[in-house]
Amino acid sequence: MSYVDSVLEELIKKDAPQKEFIQAVTEVLNSIRPVIDSNSHFKEMGLLERIVEPERVLMFRVPWMDDNKKVRVNRGFRVQFNSAIGPYKGGLRFHPSVNLSIIKFLGFEQIFKNSLTGMPIGGGKGGADFDPKGKSDHEIMVFCQSFMTELFHHIGPDTDVPAGDIGVGSREIGYLYGQYKRLTNRFHGVLTGKGLTYGGSLARTQATGYGVIYFAEEMLKIKNDSIKNKKIIISGSGNVAIYAAEKAAALDGKVIALSDSTGWIYDKEGIDLETVKKIKLVNHSRLRDYISIHKNAEYHRGKGIWSIPCDIALPCATQNELDAKDASNLIKNGVKMVVEGANMPITIEAIQLLQSEGILYAPGKAANAGGVATSALEMSQNSIRTSWTFYEVDTRLRHIMSSIHEHTYDAAEAYGHKGNYLVGANIAGFLKVAEAMMEQGIV
Ligand code: NDP
Repeated sequence: MSYVDSVLEELIKKDAPQKEFIQAVTEVLNSIRPVIDSNSHFKEMGLLERIVEPERVLMFRVPWMDDNKKVRVNRGFRVQFNSAIGPYKGGLRFHPSVNLSIIKFLGFEQIFKNSLTGMPIGGGKGGADFDPKGKSDHEIMVFCQSFMTELFHHIGPDTDVPAGDIGVGSREIGYLYGQYKRLTNRFHGVLTGKGLTYGGSLARTQATGYGVIYFAEEMLKIKNDSIKNKKIIISGSGNVAIYAAEKAAALDGKVIALSDSTGWIYDKEGIDLETVKKIKLVNHSRLRDYISIHKNAEYHRGKGIWSIPCDIALPCATQNELDAKDASNLIKNGVKMVVEGANMPITIEAIQLLQSEGILYAPGKAANAGGVATSALEMSQNSIRTSWTFYEVDTRLRHIMSSIHEHTYDAAEAYGHKGNYLVGANIAGFLKVAEAMMEQGIV
């Protein structure tokens, strides 16, 4: 049995119920086989057994009192997965679906994504099974304060620097930071995605979405093509989706559909983003409100967004949101490129289908790495007590995305898989971490 297969078999025996985690590890290990098979040192040093095991897993009680004076208890998590190349770095997700499997899958992916950015940041992820929807501002604050009251023991600017993710935006980061400061009496860059008045970076809000489009542009450049005049559908209407749509439109692409967790809108004239921003970012409402303003647009309940014909599809909502049936629909309707804005939004079967049909495909760990890269730029600005202009940060982001593209493309080619961004991203991300782990001994 090969080294990869024996590690996967052992992991499945130990962690079988952790479906998402097993899925993420299987995808990565399968695609780095060419590297593993050609280096027997990795096996001698137990590298794969070590890389699939988090350095530390924290699970904790988060008690808080709601506005009706009822005591509630949620479960908090922080998985400090790998610090071979820098302090743990990765977001916090507040969503009722959060469990250990989801946090471990996200933390594992984060190791390779962070390595790809070229910045000195390790992999981690955290969150809670708390649902911010329908909660008052006061309840959100009380929850964040309780969450940080445990988390602060385990983080620090040189140890672990969390950020936002689903359900954790600037409001939550503000409350978390306030409580950290109060508990430690320290004002330093322990969280990223902060407000601009207390150490946040310009362009961090836009970075993940803009980065996805910069990456897609690089992929198209290789084919002597561009975003211009492409029909684009984007799932989600949160941070990543909205700013991917904004940059795509700025480059003359035509975004014709967006979704949220209840349904999707289709506007063949091109989505009016100002309306979407008002609905989602200001009113925190449902996307169906769009059709009361844009009478020619359509709203559909459920998850049918992938049935719309388009040139480019960008899944930017959540994991496993695009399955083999959706991929078949996209292929049948002539899609040319699928780029992941979310983390692991496409099932393994669907990826295989897209690749077997020659559709250009890029994994999230490469395409959405602009968010964490800009978080690392925020850490740098905090360390040297400065703040760069929007233009400066955006220019660095563009450069980072172009360099991630180059490394990914080159690694795929070097290992005989030219044009396979999945293999390229996993190999390029893995090699740096593996080398650092080998040099640091068995730890
Ligand atoms: P947000 O919470 O801002 O937005 C998430 C969007 O996806 C919302 O429109 C939400 O709908 C929708 N959504 C969430 N869960 C589901 C579901 N189960 N089914 C259908 N739709 C759903 O999150 P982000 O935009 O920040 O994150 C989106 C993805 O991108 C995640 O996978 C995240 O891990 C990844 N990511 C985010 C980064 C960042 O910088 N923010 C960086 C790198 C990756 P509704 O509005 O109804 O809640």
